[in-house]
Amino acid sequence: MQEYLKQEREQAWRIELRGKIKNIERGEITRVKMPEMDATKRVCFQDKEVNLGLDNTSAVREAQRCMDCANPTCIDGCPVSINIPKFIKNIERGEFIEAAKTLKETSALPAVCGRVCPQEKQCEASCFYTLKLKKDPVAIGYLERFAADYERESGQVTVPPIAPKNGIKVAAIGSGPASLSFAGDMIKLGYDVTVFEALHEIGGVLKYGIPEFRLPNRVVDVELQSLEKMGVQFERNFIVGRTATFDDLKDEGYQAFFVASGAGLPRFMNVPGENYNGILSSNEYLTRVNLMNAADGSFDTPVLKGQNVAVIGGGNTAMDSVRTAKRLGAERAMIVYRRSREEMPARVEEIHHAEEEGIEFINLANPVEYFADEKGRVKSMRIQRMELAEPDASGRRRPVVIEGSEYDIPVDVVVVAIGVSPNPLVPSELPELKVSRWGTIEVDPETMQSSLPELFAGGDIVRGGATVILAMGDGRRAASGMHKYLMGN
Ligand code: FAD
Ligand code: SF4
Repeated sequence: MQEYLKQEREQAWRIELRGKIKNIERGEITRVKMPEMDATKRVCFQDKEVNLGLDNTSAVREAQRCMDCANPTCIDGCPVSINIPKFIKNIERGEFIEAAKTLKETSALPAVCGRVCPQEKQCEASCFYTLKLKKDPVAIGYLERFAADYERESGQVTVPPIAPKNGIKVAAIGSGPASLSFAGDMIKLGYDVTVFEALHEIGGVLKYGIPEFRLPNRVVDVELQSLEKMGVQFERNFIVGRTATFDDLKDEGYQAFFVASGAGLPRFMNVPGENYNGILSSNEYLTRVNLMNAADGSFDTPVLKGQNVAVIGGGNTAMDSVRTAKRLGAERAMIVYRRSREEMPARVEEIHHAEEEGIEFINLANPVEYFADEKGRVKSMRIQRMELAEPDASGRRRPVVIEGSEYDIPVDVVVVAIGVSPNPLVPSELPELKVSRWGTIEVDPETMQSSLPELFAGGDIVRGGATVILAMGDGRRAASGMHKYLMGN
């Protein structure tokens, strides 16, 4: 890796580019701002993206900030090891398609990652500007999105080179980012890859969870088409463990499996009244709107619309749900979260956008009981105030109850977004498979191989709810691990 990075950096065009602008001048350029749709306007649309993307001029200007470091620490922060300076320098010299090709060397979903990855905690947190200059990092995520969008919008989508077919069939279970990344790497190595998906759409959480206003489905579809062009087969409406068992698939010639069935099982708090009508999981709420078009009047999918909507939780799912509620017409769309804003696991950008859109944050608060009208529809919730004590095992300060602090607020819809558990079907089909007490599949973290030699796993079914890029990193490691296993080394 180091040798490859060095060779690339010594290309004549990179040396020339470095000589064009002094580092001191690069360091004085201010970080670009992402153009956004106005908050008052955007809350009227479920399907219009908030971030509008950089234009060519501002992308090139931002790319000039990157110093093409000899030791590019930004790459250490990227779970799929994108050659970040190479793609950014391609933008600086105006070779936008080359920039997109560089992204695709290691990432199957650059337009997705450029939109939803927490760059502020990953590559940008490890950028020279952040670490040494104590300035705003290079906007690596914005530039990634720019290059991927440019490629798509200019109709010049390229497909990476593929090795000759080796005749070996492998299967991926689930079609979220872990599987897509796995499939991209395995097809490049010459395998016959089939992705089996329980739902009628490919993409996992990218399709059913993350809303259009953050990640349009058409963007995901173009990335999927690239995989299809490379030869990946997709089987929709196919539940492994029901439509066919692992033994059936083995009989069909599949020699190894990558299980990436995600963590889509909703969790509830088990507080009194949680079964009243009007209280539902974020998973159901978002799936109705994102996958089944409930916000679009021309579809007949029902979805609960409320005037006073409370969303319980502080992660990305909670933020997506509350912003969806606002777009569905809620007058009061509220986050109820038991810790403070600083502890919220959601992306900083999402919290910021939610605030701009008029979302109300009731922090340091927890629901303890729900009350219903005579028809059994929730009408109010009792909230208990919390305060923060010492940090717990997660490193975040532990919320503790303030006795006697309860009060009631009116609600007509409540969306519970307090986390998810692993989908249990695959582990229950394979009793010999080693799983943790939380239901996640146990794997060797280097190879992603499970206790069953022919079965590899990654993404949320292993991590129990993480991020797109970590799932993709798992998919890449599993592809490498499975390749070695199948080649007998
Ligand atoms: P998933 O994306 O969950 O896909 C698993 C797929 O497997 C599903 O489509 C499921 O139907 C299918 N499946 C399950 N069982 C079977 C079976 N037996 N047979 C066939 N198919 C099966 N992460 C970020 O990095 N940034 C964000 O902004 C962000 N926002 C999020 C917003 C929401 C609302 C949610 C829910 C998550 C968000 N995440 C975000 C987390 C991220 O989406 C997940 O970590 C990631 O999608 C996990 O990928 P995966 O491939 O493991 O599984
Ligand atoms: Fe560019 Fe920052 Fe990476 Fe250095 S660390 S190569 S400045 S993005």
